Amino acid sequence: MIITAVDPFYLKLPVVTDAADGTQDTVLIRIRADNGMEGWGECDASPLVTIATYCCPMSHGNIINLRESLVGETLETVEDIERLHKKALRNGLDIQQIHHAYSGADIALWDLLGKHLGQPVCRLLGEGEAHPKIPYASVLFEETPEATRERAEFLKSQGYRAAKFGWGPMGRYDEACDVALVREVRRGLGEDAHLMVDAGVAWGHDAETAYARAVAFAPYHPTWLEEPLLPDAVEAYAALQRMKPPVPIAGGEGSGRLRDAADVIQNGGLDFVQIDVGRIGGITTAYAVRQMAERQGIQYVNHTFKSHLSVAASLHVFATAEAFRFLEYPAEDSPLAHDLATRLERDADGLVRLNEAPGLGVDVNLDCAREYLQPLHIEMAGETLYETPEL
Ligand SMILES: [Mg+2]
Repeated sequence: MIITAVDPFYLKLPVVTDAADGTQDTVLIRIRADNGMEGWGECDASPLVTIATYCCPMSHGNIINLRESLVGETLETVEDIERLHKKALRNGLDIQQIHHAYSGADIALWDLLGKHLGQPVCRLLGEGEAHPKIPYASVLFEETPEATRERAEFLKSQGYRAAKFGWGPMGRYDEACDVALVREVRRGLGEDAHLMVDAGVAWGHDAETAYARAVAFAPYHPTWLEEPLLPDAVEAYAALQRMKPPVPIAGGEGSGRLRDAADVIQNGGLDFVQIDVGRIGGITTAYAVRQMAERQGIQYVNHTFKSHLSVAASLHVFATAEAFRFLEYPAEDSPLAHDLATRLERDADGLVRLNEAPGLGVDVNLDCAREYLQPLHIEMAGETLYETPEL
């Protein structure tokens, strides 16, 4: 088949706040082929910056937009996806957002190819059966420990056996407050649940404070302490690991390219590497990180704070790796998380399994997409560079 259209769409809730909640807006990518088929992807990125990467005028041979790189190309095999990945990133060598923005196109290409070949994406990626994962409800800390405990109790009542709380007041005040937040999550979830703590880069480059918090949180036995430090504080991550913290350290969601993930794995010494398929360059790059994690003997886990289109794309990357048990499962109350795509619901046993239908196995809910679609027109000197396509 021949790629005939590459269309980004800007979706947004009516009100966007400064909460660290990535479900307030999104950018969807639709790729169409000459046989009438289409695939869908989603980026965890600024929608407007991303759309610019799909339509910006050529500056020179290293700044060529993503539409230009893909439209008219042939897509028949996995090798074509790898070839197009290389071509698009080479054409956009000097566009610093290129890996991030290409993520949505790469996911859409895998979806499209899977539908074309009648295969689920995980099967195209490699051998082995898909294994169920433990979904951990991923939410933000409430403003007080008490409200946080109530949120944890609610998640427990919803049947979650694992939950992650992050950002919000964590790291804003003092150690006593930070510990109270974690203690109340444990109280709310119960002793048997998996509890993850996302510090939301609270301690910057300060490995000593990160270590002190890991020690203080250890009595509540978190599965991991996530992003105690900034994404590029690789030396500080290494210093933290040299102190042998009593809680495993997770990070890597900020990786915008394969090299970033390699850096934080090999030089930062992470125990869990968390990869966002909608940031790092799509399924193709995320799968390379999964393989790197397998070689290093560390845990791979997805970072996903978007719709179930992104949850599905993330799960295809590591579904066939039985050792990687946890699935980040967005649980914030946003229609762009809940309703934008077919949901991967939890089974009676509380686990999440892939739908092994062709492609990603989920459908975009067009009514939801249309409700939050932001009409956009980008024009230069009378020439239209981008006009929101029909949805
Ligand atoms: Mg995080």
